[in-house]
Amino acid sequence: MKNERNRSSLGILFLMVLFVGVGLYVYFSATFERNAPTIALQTNGYWNLKKPLPLKLTDESGIQSYKVIMRTKSGDTKLLYNQLLVPQKIINLELQPPRGAYAIKDKNIEIIVQARDASKWNFFKGNRALKSFKLKIDKKRPEVSIVNNSYKISRGGSALVIFRAADDNLKELYIESNNHEHFKAEPFYKEGYYIAILAWPVQDKSFRATVVAEDSAGNMTRSYVPLYLKNKTYRLSKITLSDKFLNGKIAELAQQFDETQGVKAPLERFKIINEDVRAKNEKLIHKVTSDVPQKMISTFKIRKMYPLKNGALVAYFGDHRKYYYHGKFISQAYHLGLDLASHAMAPIKSRNYGKVVFADYNGLYGNNLIISHGLGLYTLYGHCSSFNVGVGDEVHPGEKIANTGKTGYAMGDHLHFGVLVQGIEVRPQEWMDKHWIKLNISDIIKSAKKIIDGK
Ligand SMILES: [Zn+2]
Repeated sequence: MKNERNRSSLGILFLMVLFVGVGLYVYFSATFERNAPTIALQTNGYWNLKKPLPLKLTDESGIQSYKVIMRTKSGDTKLLYNQLLVPQKIINLELQPPRGAYAIKDKNIEIIVQARDASKWNFFKGNRALKSFKLKIDKKRPEVSIVNNSYKISRGGSALVIFRAADDNLKELYIESNNHEHFKAEPFYKEGYYIAILAWPVQDKSFRATVVAEDSAGNMTRSYVPLYLKNKTYRLSKITLSDKFLNGKIAELAQQFDETQGVKAPLERFKIINEDVRAKNEKLIHKVTSDVPQKMISTFKIRKMYPLKNGALVAYFGDHRKYYYHGKFISQAYHLGLDLASHAMAPIKSRNYGKVVFADYNGLYGNNLIISHGLGLYTLYGHCSSFNVGVGDEVHPGEKIANTGKTGYAMGDHLHFGVLVQGIEVRPQEWMDKHWIKLNISDIIKSAKKIIDGK
């Protein structure tokens, strides 16, 4: 009796262990996993019923079947349905708009995604997931029209454009150049209107500007700015490097820069200074001068620039300088400003309002001052001996801002005067010319306002 009882309790224990074992197996096995598939629809809440929407389904035991429907006021439309023979752990799908999507008038629709996995859980029925996405329908492309622009742009020069852009869900608005540079526009005068100064980089052979507007649903409109292109040839200078220069100014500069520490060969030092250090200094300048304010402006007044009284022109903008040593080409660079010389430590003045955005030592540019005049237009003053203003200061017309000098890469006391538009160096001569400013900036703004007012 005792033995029998022992045996039967042993049997019960065995069965219990078996049950727990099977239970544990079912509980932890991937075949019986209890997690519902995940459904991810790549959307920002808008759909133009043109671009397919990426849909991703994932599940650890594999997706067994899925179904996608679109719900509109007039009923449900099946977009996708599939029963898989072999379950898949990851399924990437593209949700195509249904046939006849152009006729859909609904402003809001719903996408309902159902998926079932291959798990044996739930009495072999698997785990189900259902997810609904509410989407705003926007099939309309943004409206873009050019209101007015400067008639022409010169290579290395600037131009102005004023345009209208409207869309209920406008997401991005910029002006793209042929080099895929993006110019930012500033809201102008009345809602829906924008203004921007454009720049044709001196190193580029051609220029083309296109206003690009994109809405949240992915609808895009591109409108070409009709500018007459005026090519300008810039000077190509062949400069012979002397030992005196390499062992003098270059050796002196080489002591200052991290890049030339330990470099003994004079030509190597020159190359590093002319290329690497210059690139670093210009990168900083471009960064500081890239900002365009985004508050609405109703006008943009700029006076003829004249930074140095009676300054003699000693080097031009856009000079392509090629350096040689004993007839062998060593390095090259573009001179991206005007060099003006007067007496030593001559006062530099601004004729325009502005705000100081940079006042520091900047390698080849020496003591370098940069002023923002709004609308992405900046002026730059290099080689200064001293500053009269600091970062954040407001500058008023006629105010003395600095003194000329020979700090940085300068052989004699002079001012390196630069003008930049959204991080691109442009011809300062245009901005130093009253007639050019009237024709290309002031008159364009004046007649654009008349057009906008419907006069
Ligand atoms: Zn210069």
